[in-house]
Amino acid sequence: MTDSVSVLPDLAIEATGLTKTYAASKKMPAKQALKGVDLAVPRGSIFGLLGPNGAGKSTFINILAGLVNKTSGNVSIWGIDADKKPREARAALGVVPQEINMDPFFTPRETLELMAGFYGVPAAERRTDEILDALGLGEKKHAYVRQLSGGMKRRLMVAKAMVHAPPILILDEPTAGVDVELRRSLWEYVRKLNAQGVTVVLTTHYLEEAQEMCDQIAIINHGAVTACEPTPKLLRRLNYKTLVVRPETPLDAAPAAFAGMDAIIRKDGQLAITYKADATTIEQLLAKLRESGVKIGDLATEEPDLEDVFLALTSG
Ligand code: ADP
Ligand code: MG
Repeated sequence: MTDSVSVLPDLAIEATGLTKTYAASKKMPAKQALKGVDLAVPRGSIFGLLGPNGAGKSTFINILAGLVNKTSGNVSIWGIDADKKPREARAALGVVPQEINMDPFFTPRETLELMAGFYGVPAAERRTDEILDALGLGEKKHAYVRQLSGGMKRRLMVAKAMVHAPPILILDEPTAGVDVELRRSLWEYVRKLNAQGVTVVLTTHYLEEAQEMCDQIAIINHGAVTACEPTPKLLRRLNYKTLVVRPETPLDAAPAAFAGMDAIIRKDGQLAITYKADATTIEQLLAKLRESGVKIGDLATEEPDLEDVFLALTSG
């Protein structure tokens, strides 16, 4: 087949110049939640949208999902313009919203069957039981939703989003209120889907989570994207390391050999030398320590984590 449907887009999602201004309501003042967001999500990636509360993550997701009307800009999903062909574009998405919303009087199995019907999935193509099993809900498929734990409800939300086998899965804060074990199994499932070719977009304000899960991360703050890079590259942005040395005999101050460098004595008495990883080698630092007559009791290096990158990129 060589029709247009069989040609896979390079970008699963592309947003350009996306803005959103919420009008004032009785509950909330007017707010510009997105200020011209450009984002490109490569097909096949696990893409993290990372930002503090109120950054605009859910607004972005909800515009993609068609739940919030954008003020201006363009969205294309799976290569389809969401303004021109909204139904087609959104059929490519499975969205798990931040808020759990489910009819408590249906069972998980009924919930998925209803959803499949809503998407027009023919009975022969439904994978209801397979999806329930994959998400560890097989044993609970005939229980009422209101009897499920919070973590189970969230997994049922994921199941609901997958009934029509969309090529893109979007998860808005998927681990909020989910315990560690369920989080693990959720990630396992997301990774499995990704290995099968599903593009995954997730939002989180947990930096470690994004660092661990995502191969590309966009940082959003106050409605604007401040960085969008492959995860290792983002981490390299803060291209420094810290050598931490516990001297055998206490030091009053950093040795003179480190003058002009970022070397301090920490409260616990350790000497911490922060250096550019591409300009200085550990060996050079060790030479300086020997030259200063510092006897090394213990030694470790510290690398920046996403928390540092995040602070550096969102401060001010
Ligand atoms: P995030 O998901 O990153 O926490 P949101 O997209 O939910 O951020 O919100 C972005 C900003 O828009 C926040 O300041 C929030 O208070 C505001 N906001 C969200 N929804 C509405 C709304 N319906 N009306 C007015 N302001 C809103
Ligand atoms: Mg949100």
